[in-house]
Amino acid sequence: MNNWWDKQIQRAKVLDEQSHGSQSLVKFYGRLLKSQKDVYDYLRGCDDWLPSGQIDTDLSVLCDGLSPLLDVVQIYGPEPLAVEAKCISQGAPGTLTELLIQYWNSPSDVQFFGKASLQPYLKWLAEAGGRPRGREPAMSDRQCPFCGGNPQVSFLSNKETAAESGNRDLICGTCLTSWEFRRVVCANCGEERPAKLGYFHSPEFDHVRIEACDSCMHYIKGVDLTRLGHAVPLVDEIHAAALDLWARDHGYKKIELNLVGV
Ligand SMILES: [Zn+2]
Ligand SMILES: [Zn+2]
Repeated sequence: MNNWWDKQIQRAKVLDEQSHGSQSLVKFYGRLLKSQKDVYDYLRGCDDWLPSGQIDTDLSVLCDGLSPLLDVVQIYGPEPLAVEAKCISQGAPGTLTELLIQYWNSPSDVQFFGKASLQPYLKWLAEAGGRPRGREPAMSDRQCPFCGGNPQVSFLSNKETAAESGNRDLICGTCLTSWEFRRVVCANCGEERPAKLGYFHSPEFDHVRIEACDSCMHYIKGVDLTRLGHAVPLVDEIHAAALDLWARDHGYKKIELNLVGV
């Protein structure tokens, strides 16, 4: 099973069956992932079509493929999202395109449908060798070099690399691609002084930790694949939602909320 989407979906299934962690969030995320895979497969399977990276040009194809996502949210989503999905499905034809263009021009982690819809599109765009056009480029290495998005989660892995950045990567919350990042640096403001950077983890989630910064008071979760090699950062991050409570209680703000709003 080497398909990226299948790996995420399978991990959500495993974690959903565990006796601790945020099962209901993981269950919903697993269903979302399946529907996003359907969107991705639809886009990838379109004959004689490749994404141009120009959102207004690609919108008609993308919108045709989004019904699996809207259906899943209507059936399994929390009430407010389910209502919104219904409104989008039944609304005026321009509702969905407007929403996607808005997210494209100004991404927000509380704009669920924009983020959920564009993740599979941007992932396919990246794999197909395209570039997003008309989006703000990354201003620093703390933003995704492909699309300029914020990091969703950080992960450590063993890599055969001599690079000083070592083995830490960030995964983009907007396009789901990852990039190498320095190990002891705040992913939000670039703070490097160790005294300003704090870590928190609980025995319940031994391979997941909060990486917090006292300079900008932001945090990101980090998943340590050297401790648990079969963890899947995007999914394990959601499963360990209890750690976000700790961070919020201590006054830290997450750099980028995940798709389930935590
Ligand atoms: Zn990105
Ligand atoms: Zn910071």
